Amino acid sequence: MGTPADNLIVTALRLLSIFAYLLSASICVAIGWYAWLRKPVPGAKPLAMLAFVEAEWCLTYLLQLLSPSLEGKLFWNNAQFFGAVAAPLFYLAFGVEYNRRSGLLSRFDWRWLTPVSLAVLGLIWTDGAHHLFRVEPALAQGSLFTHLRFTDGPLFGVFTVYAYTLIVITTLLILVHYLIANHLYRLQIGVLLVGILIPWVTSVVTALGWLPLRLHDATPLTFGLSNLVMAWALFRYHLFDLVPVARDLLIDSLQSGVIVLNDKACIMDVNPAGERILGMSLNQCVGKPLYEVLPIPAEWFKLAAQSSPLIQDFKLYPAGEETSYEIHISSLQTASGAVVGQVVALSDISDRIRVQEKLRHLAITDDLTGLFNRRYFSLLANQELERALRYRHDLSVILLDIDYFKLVNDTHGHLVGDQVLNQLAQECFLGLRAFDISARFGGEEFIIALPETDLDAASQTAERLRARAEKLRVDTDQGEIQITISLGVASLSQSPGRTLNQLIDCADQALYQAKNSGRNQVCVWEENPQTAAA
Ligand code: GH3
Ligand code: MG
Ligand code: MG
Repeated sequence: MGTPADNLIVTALRLLSIFAYLLSASICVAIGWYAWLRKPVPGAKPLAMLAFVEAEWCLTYLLQLLSPSLEGKLFWNNAQFFGAVAAPLFYLAFGVEYNRRSGLLSRFDWRWLTPVSLAVLGLIWTDGAHHLFRVEPALAQGSLFTHLRFTDGPLFGVFTVYAYTLIVITTLLILVHYLIANHLYRLQIGVLLVGILIPWVTSVVTALGWLPLRLHDATPLTFGLSNLVMAWALFRYHLFDLVPVARDLLIDSLQSGVIVLNDKACIMDVNPAGERILGMSLNQCVGKPLYEVLPIPAEWFKLAAQSSPLIQDFKLYPAGEETSYEIHISSLQTASGAVVGQVVALSDISDRIRVQEKLRHLAITDDLTGLFNRRYFSLLANQELERALRYRHDLSVILLDIDYFKLVNDTHGHLVGDQVLNQLAQECFLGLRAFDISARFGGEEFIIALPETDLDAASQTAERLRARAEKLRVDTDQGEIQITISLGVASLSQSPGRTLNQLIDCADQALYQAKNSGRNQVCVWEENPQTAAA
């Protein structure tokens, strides 16, 4: 008999042990629930099941410790083997599910082993009839609890082989996965390995009698810690499998490229469309900053982190062909708002860009001649006028009109008239400088704005155009047609305060004068004293 002080210590230690087992079981239940809520993450479901059966194992072991009678202890020992038989199976399930994406054992279904587990469990539960599992079970007084003691029968060997085989296979699976995985994933896999090994190393050490525990099984005590480590590894690092069902079914089949980046804008994951756009496989590009792989500025990622999502366009030239992409960069944020990575979506918008360019072209050009239309001319010429005013440069305008064009239409028909307009536009304006702006002004009138050109130079250009038009033999369905044009010229330097419309009006007055003076000639605008007076 111990002293009252000894009794007090024993009672305290008993309570402490009970508390430790309850704590381990509670952690298992919490982790199981946490993992169950995240079922779609590969490995989460087996981890949840593992945590639940380990909680059962831990609790039934505690009940076995607390049960005073041999029958009670035998009952709870049997109950404990529900967990002890199921746990190795769920370890294997975890290893297989977790490795699913790496292709290891991709066709293997861990459920095929369920009958084996049930058979082992059946042998244990029928031990009362054959005693091949527990030989001569008896009560044994330990320092804190009365324990169940028995000699291991031959069937205990069956259970041991079953449990350790599954554990060793799982460990090897994770180890191989560790060796073939990219270094970025190794920390996660390494942590998982530690989590898996904690209880099994403990159980081996206990079985070998290396722990001074005297009949105590410490293995259930380690379940809580083991599950915590595994869950941390699985969920802390698994950004990319947040919605793996969507990832497999949707992301992989998307036409758009999807790239997951870490907080340093380095590539963590890429779907097949993304691999095609990048022109490299996941293994080749993982770990590289995206802006080194694509022609995009690094600043975009900082901007996206500040105001997600960032949408920009950029071009690639695979096989020399221009392809336009739209890039969406969205931040991945934790609940506290910290940016832990970014998701990049790349869509091929070449068709859209082509349509936009076509629409833009249609909006600014005249479809008969291919020259700019009047609206776009006004836009460009106004810009030139502003520049001319700012830098005190000159700017001239030539307005030209086909002589007696109505006659062409009346004699040869409107379609032939169209051919004349078209060829005049093609041939006559070829001699202009690249920054001269020529447009169809309306009907059979054309306009040219000549930046940095004074009245003299503009008159010479107008004269060249007139001579060209005169020489032109327009090839039509009805034979060759000859035309002449009349031109009016006005320059900004003649009266600097004018708007574009006023300048055009001056050129129009000069054109009117050219018509009145017999056509096929160039007239420059002159301040008409009478008009000015009026
Ligand atoms: P003028 O020497 O005084 O300029 O004589 P004109 O006959 O050219 O003058 P007017 O302005 O009276 O006639 C212009 C004609 O141009 C009238 C119109 O039928 C024709 N026209 C205007 N736009 C087009 C077009 O797009 N195609 C064709 N075929 N004819 C057009
Ligand atoms: Mg005319
Ligand atoms: Mg006219």
